[in-house]
Amino acid sequence: MLGLMQNQPLLISSLIDFAERHHGDGEIVSRRVEGDLHRYTWRDVARRARQVANGLDGWGLAFSDRVATLAWNGYRHLELYFGVSGSGRVLHTINPRLHPEQIAWIANHAEDQVLCFESSFLPLVQAVHAKCSTVKRWVMLCAADKLPADTGIPGLLSYDAWVDAQSADYTWPQFDENSASSMCYTSGTTGNPKGALYSHRSTVLHAYAAALPDVMGLSARDSVLPVVPMFHVNAWGIPYSAALTGCKLVFPGPALDGKSVYELLEAEKVTYAAGVPTVWQMLLQHMKPAGLKFSTLKRTVIGGSACPPAMIDAFREDYGVEVLHAWGMTEMSPLGTLCTLKNKHLALPKEEQMKILLKQGRAIYGVDMKIVGADGTDLPFDGKAAGDLLVRGPWIVAEYFKGEGGDPLVRDAQGRAWFPTGDVATIDADGFMQITDRSKDVIKSGGEWISSIDIENIAVAHPAVAMAACIGVFHPKWDERPIVVVVKKPGAEVGRDELLKFYEGKTAKWQIPDDVVFVDAIPLGATGKMLKTRLREQLKDYRLPGL
Ligand code: AMP
Repeated sequence: MLGLMQNQPLLISSLIDFAERHHGDGEIVSRRVEGDLHRYTWRDVARRARQVANGLDGWGLAFSDRVATLAWNGYRHLELYFGVSGSGRVLHTINPRLHPEQIAWIANHAEDQVLCFESSFLPLVQAVHAKCSTVKRWVMLCAADKLPADTGIPGLLSYDAWVDAQSADYTWPQFDENSASSMCYTSGTTGNPKGALYSHRSTVLHAYAAALPDVMGLSARDSVLPVVPMFHVNAWGIPYSAALTGCKLVFPGPALDGKSVYELLEAEKVTYAAGVPTVWQMLLQHMKPAGLKFSTLKRTVIGGSACPPAMIDAFREDYGVEVLHAWGMTEMSPLGTLCTLKNKHLALPKEEQMKILLKQGRAIYGVDMKIVGADGTDLPFDGKAAGDLLVRGPWIVAEYFKGEGGDPLVRDAQGRAWFPTGDVATIDADGFMQITDRSKDVIKSGGEWISSIDIENIAVAHPAVAMAACIGVFHPKWDERPIVVVVKKPGAEVGRDELLKFYEGKTAKWQIPDDVVFVDAIPLGATGKMLKTRLREQLKDYRLPGL
């Protein structure tokens, strides 16, 4: 017997319809490439998204055709999020920080038909457009009078001129909720990038889950600033959850330096922000010397790479901002876990609470996770056993676009399919997961594992250290020993011996790095994560002292 409830497909268009009808006057504020602030409302986003849909129909784009973006966080990008997916096409957000060759490779692999780009990426598009063989339309996200002449890009259009010429009269099509809605390629540090292809159903379910109180906890009373880019895993789904909750959205555009972000947070009375640790580092470095405080910011989600305890502490103790440590990945839309205390933790002393808040957190309903040993057997949830982290759920990839890389899933004895995350983690009895490493970054010293994240966290707790990366280097007796590569804060001083002494009492003696290497910068990937593969290449001639 089937239930007798209305069967409506979960479609992204329903999110923007809802925002328009129930939060129509909710504000969307965007810093533009030109530097000025643009303001309008959810009602305007909905109207312009329908114009985008009419424009795509006018070009004869078929269902599931890909429309690519090379764009910052801003209102035009938001219109494309809803107009492209809502009309049944697939929004392909491309990370502009990737190498131009990789961008062209991705655009060709996805068979993008249209590419919409921010004016700041004009030189990049001029460099790659001839290689993007499937793209038929090039659109610059600018007003008609800002479109430069003689760009060399065939038929280049102004986005505003194109959108303004379309009717806003449009009825969103209804189709199978499992249809593809958007895609994002993994950063692909080895081999070619692989496409994660999200569906309407996965996106709407993820948006619901993200909005829960113990997850992102967004509400109509929030003013939300996503620093996390809309070009990487849909800005952690915030644009969708924002439409679902009707919160105010504040977009930083290209201005991601500490000063610009701080000024926007204050001017737009932001209560909630989301970003990766490297961006928040810039913000704190701007605020601390100037003695600045937040007047409205209450909560921030930090994820994408491990959030150092020193950062959680600074936000909580110095600025009264609650830090929500989050973990996820491109293949997971991206949210997997978020760290919030349970009731029984509220009475614990601060240091005990900090130990929990450092973890990547508890699984969100919709994500099942477990850890397994090298032979694939399940490991206990005891907070001690570390193993490969596997996940399953309705917003986690089943396979990559065009079957790239073969079947990524592993099956358990019950025949259930799990996605191996490539992360190594512990899970405690309360279900709090803690990443100890990427499986390829873990340091194996004399058969024992050393967590590079633990070693990095201790280093960045030193007042003179801005950034730290721990890597394993060859050792004839122990196979590998950890060293820590450090960038000092401007004007700050710390020597090798002082830093190694700083580790004493903070970790087991045998886990203390064998050496410190000071560098001017640690290479960062396109999403702000430390590129340890490149760092290892840079240090390939390094030898441990005395060897
Ligand atoms: P990406 O798919 O590029 O977003 O990268 C996903 C990977 O980033 C994960 O598999 C983790 O290795 C890492 N990551 C994301 N969030 C965290 C976090 N909070 N702590 C540690 N690593 C993280």
